[in-house]
Amino acid sequence: MEKYQVTTAKITKMTNLCGTIFDVTVENEYLAKASRCGQFVHIDCGDEFVLRRPISICEVLPNGIRFIFDVRGKGTKRLSEKQVGDTLDILGPLGNGFAIRKEKALILGGGIGVYPLYELAKQVAVCDVALGFRTKELVTLEDEFKAHCNNLYIATDDGSYGFHGNALQAVKDKLENGAYEAVYACGPLPMLKALKQITDKYNIFCQISMEERMGCGIGACLCCNIKVEDEGEEGFKHLHVCKDGPVFNAKEVIL
Ligand SMILES: Cc1cc2nc3c(=O)[nH]c(=O)nc-3n(C[C@H](O)[C@H](O)[C@H](O)COP(=O)(O)OP(=O)(O)OC[C@H]3O[C@@H](n4cnc5c(N)ncnc54)[C@H](O)[C@@H]3O)c2cc1C
Repeated sequence: MEKYQVTTAKITKMTNLCGTIFDVTVENEYLAKASRCGQFVHIDCGDEFVLRRPISICEVLPNGIRFIFDVRGKGTKRLSEKQVGDTLDILGPLGNGFAIRKEKALILGGGIGVYPLYELAKQVAVCDVALGFRTKELVTLEDEFKAHCNNLYIATDDGSYGFHGNALQAVKDKLENGAYEAVYACGPLPMLKALKQITDKYNIFCQISMEERMGCGIGACLCCNIKVEDEGEEGFKHLHVCKDGPVFNAKEVIL
């Protein structure tokens, strides 16, 4: 089987979860078989756009995949106007997903970074999940995550629901006190930076999913580069989110 394909997928379900967040299920046998948690797809949003838009795989289903996106600009706006029965031109699955380990894990998500972690939560045997949202109205997938973890912690920036603060702050004490042997995270850079400081300090296995502005999605245009540690003279080298990530070991990423 090829690693990725350009394929056509029919939208079988599309709901407006809240605000500008859309939950989409597409039917496609190839994507169902080839997709792994942490990978993403590159979606053609319409003829007017030269570049595809990268969106993470939220769930791998028996006959397709599910993804959830926020409307941020023209491409995702156009995508939100699609309807059940429409087809999407999708390149994928792309990138490297999470390495699932057997130890007790913490899954940490913030904002739209929550959604790429759902398939992972389904697959990790023992985990706690901490999810952060700006405010109560944006709290989504709560029951779905709850069904796949020991403890679910919800945090809101404004304190309107759950813990008042971000997802990391909600579980920081447990993390620092050795409750987890592995951490997986996706979310805003400040949260990932604060997380890396802790997991580096206590030497905890940690994988983070990175987001960068992206062109081709397959490592040809080289625009989505990030800096990682390197033993060479400069002390760093560049890797590409689309091809080498989006999931990286936190220890090697320079944030
Ligand atoms: C690996 C990966 C996974 C992602 N998964 C999700 C997800 O599951 N749900 C979700 O809502 N969003 C996700 N994003 C962010 C999403 O790709 C951008 O919000 C989207 O591309 C914005 O496109 P636009 O046309 O609406 O915005 P515009 O700002 O009009 O886009 C202009 C150009 O910039 C690029 N761009 C803009 N913002 C980003 C961004 N943050 N990351 C990468 N490229 C960007 C676009 O692809 C486009 O080429 C992901 C990004 C990456 C890199």
